[in-house]
Amino acid sequence: MLSDIHGNLEALDAVLEALADEPIDRYLCLGDIVGYGASPNACLDRVTGLTTDVIAGNHDHAAIGKLDIATFNQFAADAALWTRRQLTPEGRRYLAELPYTRQIDDLYAVHASPAKPEDWTYLTSPWLADEAFDAMPGDIALCVLGHTHTPGIFEIRTAQDRSRQIPAATLGLESECRYIVNVGSVGQPRDGDPRAAYCVYDTGERRIEIKRVSYDVETAQRKIRAAGLPDMLAERLAHGR
Ligand code: ZN
Repeated sequence: MLSDIHGNLEALDAVLEALADEPIDRYLCLGDIVGYGASPNACLDRVTGLTTDVIAGNHDHAAIGKLDIATFNQFAADAALWTRRQLTPEGRRYLAELPYTRQIDDLYAVHASPAKPEDWTYLTSPWLADEAFDAMPGDIALCVLGHTHTPGIFEIRTAQDRSRQIPAATLGLESECRYIVNVGSVGQPRDGDPRAAYCVYDTGERRIEIKRVSYDVETAQRKIRAAGLPDMLAERLAHGR
């Protein structure tokens, strides 16, 4: 499971290379393929070649004018306008047709939150996670998402009504619990670890693992600067902030 690639081809390729060694039978992309990074079209090509299980992120919508960039900070807005100029007509059409949510077997995928996905809420607390659990389809025990660029797991016991955040990167799912897993960001991590984040779900063992892999940050930075994108977008990659 991949999320928040953000036009960072170097990070995406490092993740795909790491996953090539694992028995992956299905890839999921949780949105924000573009925005911030210098390789939006190449990242779109990679994702469309990999899977049809893809949902929309707010930056995907901003890049095609489907979301008003007045809600974005200056760096994000500049990057959205730059990305808008780079996209091919096919890329634009593809992004326009992505759904907000997708149910894949026993798993529910959304970019930001199951509670009003089109509001792009940042799921940053157990309180917000409670709302999100309420909005999940009743028969679903596992929701995967991205958006905050910070990997993490929320758990709620069926018999209780309050969720808690679990400080673990690997977790065996229990049958009496429901989970929301933030898979982290491939192309712009913000948890202080600059390595690309991704997540593997072993459906047989019911085991979630959030993983990290180093990538060629310097090349991604050089391409951002060469494209004339805000320097801050290059700088932050080195710090994972
Ligand atoms: Zn994002």
